[in-house]
Amino acid sequence: MIVVPLGVASATPTAVRHLPSVALWREGSVFLFDCGENAQMRMLQAGIKRSKIECIFITHFDVDHYSGLMGLLSTLQLQRRDKSLTIVGPKGIKEYVEWNINFSGIDLVYDIEFVEIEEGFEHQRVVDGDDYYVEARPLKHSTFCVGYRYQEKDKPGKVDAEKAEKMGISKDEQYKALKAGEDVELEDGTIVKSHDIVGHPRPGDSFAYITDTVYSPNAVKLAMNTNILYHEATFSTDLEDKAHETGHSSTADAARVATEAQTKLLVIGHFSARYTNPYVLLKEAREGFYPTWLANELRPIFTDPTHERGIITPRVEIKDLSKGKSGGKGRGKKHSGKGGKKNYRKRKSKSSGSSKNYKKGNRSSSNNRYKSDSDSRRNKYRKKTYGSSTYSPNIKDKDDSGSSTSSRRKITPRSSYDDFDRF
Ligand SMILES: [Zn+2]
Repeated sequence: MIVVPLGVASATPTAVRHLPSVALWREGSVFLFDCGENAQMRMLQAGIKRSKIECIFITHFDVDHYSGLMGLLSTLQLQRRDKSLTIVGPKGIKEYVEWNINFSGIDLVYDIEFVEIEEGFEHQRVVDGDDYYVEARPLKHSTFCVGYRYQEKDKPGKVDAEKAEKMGISKDEQYKALKAGEDVELEDGTIVKSHDIVGHPRPGDSFAYITDTVYSPNAVKLAMNTNILYHEATFSTDLEDKAHETGHSSTADAARVATEAQTKLLVIGHFSARYTNPYVLLKEAREGFYPTWLANELRPIFTDPTHERGIITPRVEIKDLSKGKSGGKGRGKKHSGKGGKKNYRKRKSKSSGSSKNYKKGNRSSSNNRYKSDSDSRRNKYRKKTYGSSTYSPNIKDKDDSGSSTSSRRKITPRSSYDDFDRF
């Protein structure tokens, strides 16, 4: 099983984080949990084929969790998909999709099977495949919201081939029968018992997707003994009041669910836009539950790395939040190449006292080249300080003095966000 976060933002996307969506790959099929805006582009960039989607699970009707759905369905139409698609979500999902299809006058070439979940339910197996199932339970959010658990059914135990051969088993059908738990009668009448040859069944992989909820016992039930629990951690613990007021979890809540459910790995996501550096959230979550990872967009998480590595390879560079490097493409670099290093250095020595002059010169358009070089220097500086992945355009860009570096690195909730940041 491979889990690939496609969008780890919460309600408002940032320059480097997209709206919520997580893809789960298993045995060549893809299961999508939430479908925020850009989910289909992120799949493309992650190297996951959209045609392989079997089911889409929507948690609730806050727009950020389903705003990518119609675009994706339209792409599947243009790809001339021929197999049916299952969409699971709260009651109303069918009406929403069908209304949009009718509105656009699309004559859908593939079937959509809807599974709608009614408010007031306690527990529901929403999909039941040959070797997996998905169950849903209600969570606690400001609107009706559902959490999911994807569970692989137990795998048959391993066959002791050497022992089987010694006991006279030679045909494929005999092996198959033994694996399926049936005893086999040999030609001489000897009975070979399945449990003598086949080991104990191995528990299947499991994954829980819990987002947009305050702490909930149902989250613990869904996540019980999972291999991977993807849980929202929208806020840090110092904003716990805000988290609960808006129907969200803090890092401590996520860690609590993971601890109570005894999951193997907690992956936190759905970060508020105020956290330009989500490592502060990781640090907090690890205080409550150590095996915690940050959801990093496009970076796959494997349950069986020896067999799964290489199956999904991102087609774009993954931005590593821990490093201050960037792709190095863009305006700034181009200009600095033009300007030349010597000039660049010379001007830097002046810059501390000449920011006024620079602005003046710029306004009168008398020194455009200077402006370009200065821009390039700023871009370089940003890359050095934050890396493109953590740079936030909302941070005020004052000057290049050392003192501002520490203040920029400081992670503080900015009150301006509180006015419009809704969850
Ligand atoms: Zn959300």
